[in-house]
Amino acid sequence: MTSCPDANFLQVVSPLKALQRLAERHREAFDIPVVGITGSNGKTVVKEWLYQLLSPEKNVTRSPRSYNSQIGVPLSVWNLDERSEVGLFEAGISEPGEMEALQSVIQPTIGVFTCLGDAHQENFTSYEQKCLEKLKLFKDAKVLVYDMDDARVVGCVNRSAFKGEYFAWSRQRRDVPLYIASVEKREAETVVSYIYKGKEAACSIPFIDEASLANSVSCLAVCLHLGMSPETIAARMAVLEPVAMRLEVKEGRSGCTLINDSYNSDYNSLDIALDFMNRRPDCAGRKRTLILSDIEQAGGAPEDLYGRVARLVAMRGVEKFIGVGPCLSAVQGLFGMEACFYRSTDELLGSGVLDMLHDEVILIKGARSFRFDVLTEHLALKVHETTLEVNLNAVVDNLNYYRSFMKPETKMVCMVKASAYGAGAVEIAKTLQDHQVDYLAVAVADEGVDLRKAGITANIMIMNPEMSSFPTLFEYDLEPEVYSFRLLEALIHEAEKEGVTHFPIHVKLDTGMHRLGFDPEKDMPLLVERLKRQSAVIPRSVFSHFVGSDSDDFDAFSARQYELFLKGSAQLQQAYSHKILRHICNSAGIEHFPDRHLEMVRLGLGLYGINSRNNEILHNISTLKTTILQIHEVPKEDTVGYSRKGRLTRDSRIAALPIGYADGLDRKLGCGRAYCLVNGRRAPYVGNICMDVCMIDVTDIDCREGDTAIIFGDDLPVTVLSDAVGTIPYEILTGVSARVKRVYYQD
Ligand SMILES: *Cc1c(COP(=O)(O)O)cnc(C)c1O
Repeated sequence: MTSCPDANFLQVVSPLKALQRLAERHREAFDIPVVGITGSNGKTVVKEWLYQLLSPEKNVTRSPRSYNSQIGVPLSVWNLDERSEVGLFEAGISEPGEMEALQSVIQPTIGVFTCLGDAHQENFTSYEQKCLEKLKLFKDAKVLVYDMDDARVVGCVNRSAFKGEYFAWSRQRRDVPLYIASVEKREAETVVSYIYKGKEAACSIPFIDEASLANSVSCLAVCLHLGMSPETIAARMAVLEPVAMRLEVKEGRSGCTLINDSYNSDYNSLDIALDFMNRRPDCAGRKRTLILSDIEQAGGAPEDLYGRVARLVAMRGVEKFIGVGPCLSAVQGLFGMEACFYRSTDELLGSGVLDMLHDEVILIKGARSFRFDVLTEHLALKVHETTLEVNLNAVVDNLNYYRSFMKPETKMVCMVKASAYGAGAVEIAKTLQDHQVDYLAVAVADEGVDLRKAGITANIMIMNPEMSSFPTLFEYDLEPEVYSFRLLEALIHEAEKEGVTHFPIHVKLDTGMHRLGFDPEKDMPLLVERLKRQSAVIPRSVFSHFVGSDSDDFDAFSARQYELFLKGSAQLQQAYSHKILRHICNSAGIEHFPDRHLEMVRLGLGLYGINSRNNEILHNISTLKTTILQIHEVPKEDTVGYSRKGRLTRDSRIAALPIGYADGLDRKLGCGRAYCLVNGRRAPYVGNICMDVCMIDVTDIDCREGDTAIIFGDDLPVTVLSDAVGTIPYEILTGVSARVKRVYYQD
């Protein structure tokens, strides 16, 4: 209580009831039209549209956002002050008995019943009970706006306590105050013709859905009742704005967080938005910036209004203020914090100030006429400019292609190491798990942990376990490959220490690759002896790897590898009574050596659509695409890019793409050694590829900024790129860096 030195405290039995009584007394001080809005849907939209329709000449006080609850309603009504000329309040209930309280707080003079759906039905015994409960809001209202065509609502209205004037609207009956004579839906607008007090009139709304139609008719009825002319109504209806139901939070550039509220600006909603900003957990310790436009208001001196705004902004902890509009520019002196001012949105955009915002939480709040959505667009992080699209159906097609070479009982390991050859391990693993693959294999323990955390329950093999990762292996049920005595000893030691027994391992034999593995000719007796002398680990499989299954040239060598493998694995098997799975074939081996599949095979590159035996594409699974950022007309003899490498031999159109070698676009592809596709046509890389950007020649291509460029995909196989730089497709695929967003689709 020491934090509120000037406050008096009243102790009450129920703070909620006290708040409601307080608001009730406050409400009684105002003799102005107060619109109470209830119904299952559309309350907030009707309230906001009425605000848009009435506020040009009336000072309107309304519920902030969807403040329509037992607490929200009194807080809303509390906002009424001596300037208020109209009140707009919505009321929402979820159980019987709640509406009486809201009625006494709002005390509406005009009632709007939007529509009745099935929302919040659970606490009511019947539709009628719910409807009658809602109608209690209008007990003492003078007028009630409702839809005459909904027979159930009409029945309830007749049974309710309402005793004022019925302002029903109907599309079917002419004997109502507001007869909707016709509704004509066009491409982007709906034209409503109506008859009110014997006069025909029309208006059009910029929406075509039924809900918007019903909501706009409710608004029309209120406006007519308040005496607004059909002409004024028509003019304002035509420019109704969609209602953004909540503050939108977006990731911005340079580490900023954006809170977008670019649909309206008035004092109350500014307060709410600032409060929202301060409550965000990521706001702590970061600079708070407000971009605010002139505030729309009816009457009153600007110094008054902006004086209040300046105090509010300071109180809410805004550290940087960017004001836009002639009014704010004229009252600059009121703002004490770091501040700058621009007369228009365009002036702000042109100033370069936006590009200097860094690691800040930015609230963007402006009246519609200031088009602040352009600012949000400018500040938002463009995550999707460069994406790797992955077609999961094609992955399954490739899986089935290799399965067609296999006996049904042969098991399969699918390699999802290196983020599934760049395609993204989790999504690929989910797809493979759905297709009953027996094992997934990754290189290191952390890759396995990622899969487990993503809910993958399939068996997972770790091809290259680090000594430090053993506890992780046990914890996440990740089965290690074991290739040396040193690794085996450490693993047994750790398992014994943790009390782990019979943990499955996969024994690797080196039959000719001379990379990793036990020597099948020398190590087997000692290996068997060591394994039999402990019970911490148990061999589930034994395997080796062909060095050249992709080429017939190595067939003789492959045969020798196979013989060696059979000999070595037989010695291991002899020591055990359970069947130890044997596997030696990779993708190329599955196709090339159908009689060497043994109990299991390991599918890698083939799954990702590349046949390493002929460098052909099976089913292409991935498309790396980006967007043209900018196009320059560059004259002949000028150069493009670093070190003036891209010398032009003709007047050219040069397009810049947001992809560089840091994204995995190999720098060796630059200077015309490869091309991408723009609108189906080849656009060669011009000059050196930069870290984050590259340039292409689009002189002969009909294209514009924002068009898509395909780096590789269906019509430009990844093998074209790997050939151009003298590498293998594996390297190009796995080189697409993590910052490139992966997007998956499946049909
Ligand atoms: C990566 C890998 C494979 C898969 O090879 P592909 O040529 O991609 O089919 C198979 N076995 C081992 C041991 C591997 O490391």
